[in-house]
Amino acid sequence: MPEPEVRRRIEGNLEALYRRHLDSEGGVDRFYESGRGYYPPEEAHDERRRFAISLEATDGDRFDVGDSEVRFPLHSISKVFAYALALEDHGRDRVLERVGVEPSGDAFNSIVFDERRHRPHNPMVNAGALATTDLVKGADPEERFSRLLDLMRRYAGNDDLYADEDVYEAELRTADRNRATAYLMRSQAMMNSDVEETLALYLRQCSVMVTSHDLAAMASTLAHGAVCPHTGDRVMSRRGVRDVLSVMYTCGMYDFAGEWAYQIGVPAKSGVSGGILAVIPGKMGIGVYSPGLDEYGNSVRGIHVCAEISEHLGLHVFATEGEDELMRGAGGRHEQLRGPRLRGGR
Ligand code: GLN
Repeated sequence: MPEPEVRRRIEGNLEALYRRHLDSEGGVDRFYESGRGYYPPEEAHDERRRFAISLEATDGDRFDVGDSEVRFPLHSISKVFAYALALEDHGRDRVLERVGVEPSGDAFNSIVFDERRHRPHNPMVNAGALATTDLVKGADPEERFSRLLDLMRRYAGNDDLYADEDVYEAELRTADRNRATAYLMRSQAMMNSDVEETLALYLRQCSVMVTSHDLAAMASTLAHGAVCPHTGDRVMSRRGVRDVLSVMYTCGMYDFAGEWAYQIGVPAKSGVSGGILAVIPGKMGIGVYSPGLDEYGNSVRGIHVCAEISEHLGLHVFATEGEDELMRGAGGRHEQLRGPRLRGGR
């Protein structure tokens, strides 16, 4: 634990950050609810002010502010874990045959593929996630899902994660576009197994419920070289972490990914329920939740908060050493968090 005085200072800064962004409601284009789809801000109620920020350092120190106990579905953030599991199950070469690592520049639900290489552009858009989910091994749908859920629980260090059946049913009822994508992929031999089974598995993984606290913990495991800071559990190979973080860095924020990499400069993944998971390699994980989305489908407050944290602490992967303010003055153990740039975990 940091010294009480340091902890208080970090908590104070986090609280001030939260207050500042809670009061600004600009830039929201829409909200998303499973079954209902997108709806305009005028139709939103309490969800307008729903907002949480969580941080978890790679030594396990945690900080939460706002609605950090509120659960929401992972949605697209689940793509990170499906990709991680596909890599562990098949190795990167085999996975690369089925899904690329190229930003698509298109919306996450685009039905456009990399025609030259005959595969979805990357695992962070829906078509690519259908391909990686398709690759998850298991004797039957139950086993495939329980392997995915188990992996997510190990990343979060939280055995209580579960898929919400109502969210799952609602997603399944309104999956026309994902279904179309999946069938088109099978017609072009980009998908091998039972389309409905893989589609259902994909939507079930989207329905796993988390809090901002869980997101920060999952991000912190990625920041810590895939070793969960709480349990000491290695959740994937070191090489796998590098692959996952690279793809998150270039493709994790949909068609805003380039701008995100430029401005904020850390690997991240967002979901339509308003979550953002951001990874500061070797240092910490950030989880933000606020359901107001911009036109790309990214959380507006989530982007602002990550931009501010990255800017203030000098966390951009290409920031110079001198810009790195992370927990400056914390002394002791926190000094080690300020190791060389780009040193991913241990
Ligand atoms: N369940 C959503 C879908 O597949 C997730 C998309 C997202 O979070 N961007 O359409």
